[in-house]
Amino acid sequence: DVTNTKGNEFEDYFLKRELLMGIFEKGFEKPSPIQEESIPIALAGRDILARAKNGTGKTAAFCIPVVERVDPTRPVIQALLLVPTRELALQTAQVCKELSKYLSIEVMVTTGGTSLKDDIMRLYQTTHIVVATPGRVVDLASKGVARLNECRMLVMDEADKLLSPEFQPVVEQLIGYLPDDRQIMLYSATFPVTVKAFKEKFLRKPYIINLMEELTLKGVTQFYAFVEEKQKVHCLNTLFSKLRINQSIIFCNSVNRVELLAKKITELGYSCYYIHAKMLQSHRNRVFHDFRNGHCRNLVSSDLFTRGIDIQSVNVVINFDFPKNAETYLHRVGRSGRFGHLGLAVNLITYDDRINLFKIEQELGTEIKPIPAQIEEKLY
Ligand code: ADP
Ligand code: MG
Repeated sequence: DVTNTKGNEFEDYFLKRELLMGIFEKGFEKPSPIQEESIPIALAGRDILARAKNGTGKTAAFCIPVVERVDPTRPVIQALLLVPTRELALQTAQVCKELSKYLSIEVMVTTGGTSLKDDIMRLYQTTHIVVATPGRVVDLASKGVARLNECRMLVMDEADKLLSPEFQPVVEQLIGYLPDDRQIMLYSATFPVTVKAFKEKFLRKPYIINLMEELTLKGVTQFYAFVEEKQKVHCLNTLFSKLRINQSIIFCNSVNRVELLAKKITELGYSCYYIHAKMLQSHRNRVFHDFRNGHCRNLVSSDLFTRGIDIQSVNVVINFDFPKNAETYLHRVGRSGRFGHLGLAVNLITYDDRINLFKIEQELGTEIKPIPAQIEEKLY
């Protein structure tokens, strides 16, 4: 259930009656938290940077204000909804169509992998809202077929994907076709640093919505141990024998090293699973599920596993290989602040990692201390 209990209603937004009918016909009774935050701001025409978990209703959070603000009597493209994949384009267009069922609003989908000619023909007819992947629509815009000079609303769903190197130049080119008084709205579950640069360059006083539980290093005691590469396994063995591990995750920087280390840990006599990006999804799901259910004490992992994990019973994280950047470090070691469980992070640092260690420590404003001979149990 994505809805909340705050008592806000869709009726509170002064939407067109026909749009309200569409909303209720979709079975939505109350706005979800992201909708409650986003709809009034979007209706006011402000730029938005919104972050919320998957499945919380982001699509309607932007489709409702877009449909509301489109003027059906003006036969021009008034909104562009950008998404990274064809499937998502179809799905998003479907939501727009359902919401605008009782309004004369034309929604068009245009993505790669379909006939360009057909799209050109369809653009001779009235289109109010275009749902598209960036490549195809930039193609149509540069040919002068899709006219975006009156398109004042741009939505980027899965915005972090759209700002990856694959898409970003095309997206920036597209923005060049929009009028100056455009409104840009970004929605995503994750906002990596790339979004920051885009925000600075293109957004005007954006309203920031953040409904994610932030990862924090609060409550995590962090240590480092200087080791040589060939001592790492020995060092890990010592840690296993000294630490009071409830469950642990041990991170390596490559798939190969994950498998090798898991084998060595098993040879040392400790129970251990491994998980990495080259494994089949079904296999990964099974390992994750079993680990979560406590079938095994230790899990060796590549960075695949870092996003969104919050297994309460993991009290120790070991960076067998030290991560390359602060973001990865935070995702491996941080936990969501809401549950104030304590934890311990131990970093094995080789000579080459030293500079990185201090850089990450500074960047995150945290303290990573040299490991003491005895670690107090109350810390984790
Ligand atoms: P997100 O993009 O955040 O991952 P979606 O927009 O795909 O989430 O919505 C997830 C599901 O929640 C969809 O099935 C959608 O129909 C449903 N949903 C969205 N808003 C509401 C609401 N206000 N009330 C009930 N269900 C909703
Ligand atoms: Mg979505």
